[in-house]
Amino acid sequence: GEKWDVSIQTEYDNIPPETTPSEVGIDMGVKRFATLSNGEFFEPISPFKREQEKLAKLQRKLARQKKESRNSRKTKRKITRLYRHIADSRRDFLHKTSTQIAQNHSTVFVEDLKVSNMSASAAGTKENPGKKVKQKRGLNRSILDQGWYGFFQMLSYKLERKGGKLIKVDSRNTSRTCPQCGCVSAENRKTQASFACIHCGYHANADLVGAINVLRAGRARLACGKSGAVRPLSAGTQRDLLQH
Ligand SMILES: [Zn+2]
Repeated sequence: GEKWDVSIQTEYDNIPPETTPSEVGIDMGVKRFATLSNGEFFEPISPFKREQEKLAKLQRKLARQKKESRNSRKTKRKITRLYRHIADSRRDFLHKTSTQIAQNHSTVFVEDLKVSNMSASAAGTKENPGKKVKQKRGLNRSILDQGWYGFFQMLSYKLERKGGKLIKVDSRNTSRTCPQCGCVSAENRKTQASFACIHCGYHANADLVGAINVLRAGRARLACGKSGAVRPLSAGTQRDLLQH
């Protein structure tokens, strides 16, 4: 294109010791990009949405112009630049947000969203057409626009670089469970934005409740893994056993 990219590879001898171990859960959302279990949250930027009008205008202009003319080439270049600007601002936001979280926490739990499934499945198949296709498409577009998948990848390598880790947890019921009494009910979720427990009356922002539950699910998973999991033998140990 009209631009060069430079990538720099670095090598580390040692992973620096973790000075302040800290665990946090994250709830991903459309209105709030990410809500942390400690109450912090990040507003989304949706660069595509923001530039959509400008893009549509340029595309209409291109359609009116004579093909292969100088003017149409000019418009095409403008469109390319706008797309690049959208991609750049998305990446910039994701880098800043993931860096900030990775700097402040060592173990980060996120919902296992299966992003690729979510963004592919709105229309469903011929045999099994999707429900609420239009709403889901809107949500899916926001998810792609906000780049959740890329965000998880960045967060993961930034945490690992300093000895921490990103752990995906089963997100079933994280939005419907009361963090105070454990009551699980769809009715706990009064609206999209607020959580109010029908059993004990606990109420809070729904995304924050989701993040607290992700943290709890993650801690439970780690506790189970430590006590119960059977670890496979390493290749070296297997070899030793076979030889003796
Ligand atoms: Zn409750």
